[in-house]
Amino acid sequence: MADVAVVGSGPNGLAAAVTMARAGLEVHLYEAADAIGGGTRTSELIEPGYLYDVCSAVHPMALASPFFKEFNLAQRIELRLPEVQHGTPLDVGGAALAYQSLERTAMELGADGPAYRHLIAPLLARVNGVVDFTSNQLLRVPKDPLAAVLFGLATLDQGTPFWGRRFREEAAPALLTGVMSHALGSQPSLSSTGAGLLLAVLAHAGGWVVPVGGSAAIAGAMAEDLIAHGGTIQTGVRVDSFDQVRPAKAILLDVAPPTLARLGGAEIPDNYRRALDAFRFGNAACKVDYILSEPVPWLAPGLRQAGTVHVGGSRMAMAESENLVDMGKHPAEPYVLVSQPSLVDSSRAPVGRHILWTYCHVPAGSDVDMAEAVTARIERYAPGFRDVVVASKTTTAAELAAYNENYVGGDFSAGLLDMRGLVQRPVVSNVPWRTPVPGVYLCSSSTPPGPGVTGMPGYHAAKHALKDIFQMPVPGLGLTVG
Ligand SMILES: Cc1cc2nc3c(=O)[nH]c(=O)nc-3n(C[C@H](O)[C@H](O)[C@H](O)COP(=O)(O)OP(=O)(O)OC[C@H]3O[C@@H](n4cnc5c(N)ncnc54)[C@H](O)[C@@H]3O)c2cc1C
Repeated sequence: MADVAVVGSGPNGLAAAVTMARAGLEVHLYEAADAIGGGTRTSELIEPGYLYDVCSAVHPMALASPFFKEFNLAQRIELRLPEVQHGTPLDVGGAALAYQSLERTAMELGADGPAYRHLIAPLLARVNGVVDFTSNQLLRVPKDPLAAVLFGLATLDQGTPFWGRRFREEAAPALLTGVMSHALGSQPSLSSTGAGLLLAVLAHAGGWVVPVGGSAAIAGAMAEDLIAHGGTIQTGVRVDSFDQVRPAKAILLDVAPPTLARLGGAEIPDNYRRALDAFRFGNAACKVDYILSEPVPWLAPGLRQAGTVHVGGSRMAMAESENLVDMGKHPAEPYVLVSQPSLVDSSRAPVGRHILWTYCHVPAGSDVDMAEAVTARIERYAPGFRDVVVASKTTTAAELAAYNENYVGGDFSAGLLDMRGLVQRPVVSNVPWRTPVPGVYLCSSSTPPGPGVTGMPGYHAAKHALKDIFQMPVPGLGLTVG
């Protein structure tokens, strides 16, 4: 039996496994699904030859993550940078576009360009500090306190009902709310604004990169490294109790809190079980993937070069749509997240064809097929879109929940993302990854810093397990380290 058992092969389980194996420990990873990767799987969802990311698609967070920097992800796989990082079509015509260059972005935003620059530039200047602050649990002294203060002030600026004070036109606020709406929740709110600001700043740092071949390349690079360091992986094995993976000295769980409660049985102390039982999940996503005969005929030419498009109209219209979801309703005109990977990666579709990855937010547990609403929303800003759709496939929130048991009710953030949910993840503690059961650690995105392909929850959990159980230092993870 291995020294370490890791349950779940999402990016966080893999990050934990790689870190433990690099320390020289014998690691065995168990995955319930038939393929590794969790939220970083790529599959021929509709027809052979068309490669879709089943969950995550765009990777500014991976590129900026301290774990993936240490792992040299950008040297291990090919990441493509679109010309336009993200964009939002506007009801008044045209689009608001974010380029990697902050200057160019601000220049094209017109009258609000200087206000956008004043908001983003101080954070961009201290981007490493901002990433450090947002890559850990919030209740700690950050490495760059000034970056944390600036980030907090910018979040207050854009995360309250006074969010319009700084802007005069539609473009800049729509551009920002398009990004802030990534995090499920009401608008404006401090938590979604914080998450959105980080993504907005990263667009002007490393950019919103797309992996060649799809997100599975990320999981593949980690699995390869794990195996190269003696680790083993077993897919198709659902772990139902700690005993199933003992006598491993350390058990790292890339699972949701209810699964931890179930796996632990009587070993979980009552007060911790109560916290796990009280853990709150958020709303969900309905995904719609398309095969296209040609790229989306966006009216605004800039969007034809954008890796990601946020379709939702004005800031207020996007907020209204998100607030309806927060009230448990399906918006008739949803905010839609669109990724156009085949614009930068021709391996995703046969020659002359394209794929389109989209989703919109829906209430938890929804089994409503939002394909028509999503298609109509895109058609509004890209007349003729319906004519280029060859086929589509919907994955409802209920189907997402069945696909991955960490997405309880279809909540792909694996836990509500309000301020309480950011701090109490799953408990308020100096070391929230450590559970009261000796040797057992939670390493999924239900722990800090939360969702996104960062590997950071897994890395934090592994660092603590190495220190607590094996009294070992954190190993190097880079390409040159053995
Ligand atoms: C539609 C969608 C779009 C997204 N887009 C992006 C994006 O563009 N960029 C981004 O950064 N993030 C995105 N995300 C979020 C990202 O995918 C997740 O935050 C991330 O995958 C979480 O990683 P994880 O390792 O914590 O868990 P997961 O990736 O969910 O992996 C958990 C794994 O554990 C396995 N497991 C659970 N229980 C057991 C058990 N008992 N026994 C064995 N195995 C078990 C599951 O099968 C699964 O494979 C998206 C998510 C969704 C659903």
